[in-house]
Parts: sequence; structure tokens; C-alpha cells
Amino acid sequence: MATERTLSIIKPDAVEQHHIGGIVSLIEGADLHILGMRMIHLTRPQAEGFYAVHKERPFFGELVQFMTRGPVVVMALEAEDAVARYRKLMGATNPADAVDGTIRKAFGGSIGENACHGSDSVENAKVEVGYFFPGYQTL
Ligand code: ADP
Ligand code: MG
Repeated sequence: MATERTLSIIKPDAVEQHHIGGIVSLIEGADLHILGMRMIHLTRPQAEGFYAVHKERPFFGELVQFMTRGPVVVMALEAEDAVARYRKLMGATNPADAVDGTIRKAFGGSIGENACHGSDSVENAKVEVGYFFPGYQTL
């Protein structure tokens, strides 16, 4: 296993419901080291650019609307096997399918408003970390 970096976003639903602390606590409890963290309110172009891979999907408009409706917390995380480790900690996209102990089980409300984002591959993690933390893409 290699040391990796990955991008985490605490989404607007979780920020609104005061779950920043709860989510950060789970992240730190899983030994994912927080290298960088800040709160930002995404613009529409920023959200569209970040989710460009989903632009043909039927929920793209809804997703961009949701992600821009209030502030988010973006974090660059580092650990051994960070990408898979953080995906496991997040749980399934649909909180109804997420297992106990995961962020989405604890804090997700629906398949759309599911509390958090995490990069899904090492390659995408490099792009996504660089999107918000230029210079942090590589170890
Ligand atoms: P994940 O975040 O688990 O990697 P995807 O990459 O498939 O999931 O989708 C990106 C995000 O788009 C999801 O986290 C969720 O916020 C939203 N989304 C996914 N599927 C749906 C859907 N069927 N309806 C509404 N929003 C969705
Ligand atoms: Mg995804």
C-alpha cells in the first residue's frame, strides 16, 4: 500500500445541519491526516467544473444546484491507501445502503444529499486535490 492523497468535501446539507465536527471526528478517527482544510461557497462554474464528469447524467443540474446552495468544507487528506480508505469511511452513495459507522449512514439524508464527497481513484484524486489545493496533488 502506498501513501496517497484524496479530496474530501463536506457538502452543504451536512454544513447546514452542524455536522462538520462529527465528520471531521470520523475522518481523524480513521487515521486520515488532514493536510489542508477550508470552507468555501462554490460558484456555479466551480461546481460545474468539479462535477464535469457527470454533466450528461440526469441529476447534474440538481447536483450543481445543491452543491452551490451554501458553504462546503474542502479537505486534502493523506494516509496509506487514502482513496479507498476514505471511500470506505464515506459509505455507499445512497445513505440507505450505507453500513453502520460510515459518514453517510450517520449524516446522509438521501442519494443526492449524502453529506460528503470523496475521490474515487488515485488518478481522479490528483485532479480533485489540485482543483482546490494547487501544489498538494503529489506527495
Ligand atoms: P459518489 O459521490 O458516491 O462517488 P457519484 O459519483 O455516482 O457518487 O455521484 C456524485 C454525486 O451525485 C453523489 O454523491 C450525489 O450527491 C449525486 N447523485 C448521485 N446519484 C444521484 C441520483 N440518482 N439522484 C440525485 N443525485 C445523485
Ligand atoms: Mg463520485
